[in-house]
Amino acid sequence: MSPLIDRHGRTKRKLRISLTDRCNFRCTYCMPEHPDWLPKASLLARSEIVRLAGLFVDHGIDQIRLTGGEPLLRQDLLECVHDIGELRERGLRRISMTTNASRIAPKARELVLAGVDDFNVSLDAIDPETFRRLTLREIAPVFDGIDALVDAGAKVKLNAVVVRGDNEKDIVPLLEWAMARKLPLRYIEYMPLDAPGHWKRDAVVSEADMLAAIRERHEVVGQARGHDPATPYLVDGHYPLGIISTVSNPFCSTCDRLRLTATGELFTCLFSPIGTPLGARMRDGIGDDVLAEQVRRAVWLKDAGYASRPGPVDRPLTMHAMGG
Ligand code: SAM
Ligand code: SF4
Repeated sequence: MSPLIDRHGRTKRKLRISLTDRCNFRCTYCMPEHPDWLPKASLLARSEIVRLAGLFVDHGIDQIRLTGGEPLLRQDLLECVHDIGELRERGLRRISMTTNASRIAPKARELVLAGVDDFNVSLDAIDPETFRRLTLREIAPVFDGIDALVDAGAKVKLNAVVVRGDNEKDIVPLLEWAMARKLPLRYIEYMPLDAPGHWKRDAVVSEADMLAAIRERHEVVGQARGHDPATPYLVDGHYPLGIISTVSNPFCSTCDRLRLTATGELFTCLFSPIGTPLGARMRDGIGDDVLAEQVRRAVWLKDAGYASRPGPVDRPLTMHAMGG
C-alpha cells in the first residue's frame, strides 16, 4: 500500500504508541501534579492497539515506539510487545520503548526476549535531590532499572530534559556518568507541553547553553545529522551525544513521526492542537479502508512543525497523555 506522505513531502516511518496515560512519576515538566486521567474505558484494549498499529505498518511505518505515561504500568505490556511483534511479518522492523525505568527491573529480561529492540530511559539528573525535585520521585529504582536492562543485554539510551533552575548544574555530571557507563545520552530542551501556564521561555536551557557548559570540561564536535531529531555531537573524540533543540532550533523538515495516544487519537505532530480520533471511530464500527483514508488525510494535512506554531499549545492533553 502507498506510504504515508504529508503535504511538505515528508514520508512517515515511525509511530509512537502511548500504551497508557497513567504514570507513577510526576515530572514537573510533563504533567500537572494532580492530572485528570483519561477515562479507563476509553483506553485502547490490546487488540485495538494491534489493529491500529497493523494499519500503520501496512502503510509504511516500520518502527514503533511504545511510550506513555509509563508503559510499565500497563498490565498486559509483555503481551502487547508480543502481539505487535507479529507485525514484523508485515514490514515492522523495530520495536522500541521509552520508560522512566523505575519499574522495569523485574521485567527487563522478559521485555528483551519478547522483542523490544531498544530502550530510551529518562534520567534528568544523577543527584538524588535534583532528581526528586524534577520527578517528585526517588532515583534509586531508576538506577536499578538501568542496571537490569544493561544486564539483560538491552540497547539503552538516556534522555534528559534540562530545566533552568532545576537541573542545569547536572548537565556535566550526568554526561560524565553516562560516558563512564558507555550509555549514549540525549539532552532535550524543555518544550511547552506541560501543565497550562507552567512553561516559561526563560526556563529553557538552549542547545547553545548546554554546549557551553559541556565545553568547559570536554571537547565537543558537531557531526553530520540524519533523520534523528537530535543534533549529533562527539564528545572527547569518542562519545556520542545528541541534543534535541525543538525550541531554539526546531528541526522538523525531515520529520518522519506520528503519534497515537492511549485512546487511539492520532496526532501528526507533538504540537498539533487537535488529533484524529481513530480509536473512537474504530469503536463506532468503521472498517479499515475508511480508517486508512482518514489516516492518509490527517497525515497529508500535517503542519510544518514547531517553528510554524511556536509556544504552548492550546489543548487539554499534556505530554504524559500525548506520549512524548
Ligand atoms: N514515562 C516515560 C518516560 O518518562 O520516559 C515515557 C513517556 S515521557 C512523556 C516521554 C519523554 O518525553 C521523556 O523522555 C520525557 O523526558 C519527555 N518529556 C516530557 N515532557 C517534556 C517536555 N515538556 N519537554 C521535553 N521533553 C519532555
Ligand atoms: Fe511520567 Fe515520563 Fe511524564 Fe515523567 S516524563 S511524568 S515519567 S510520563
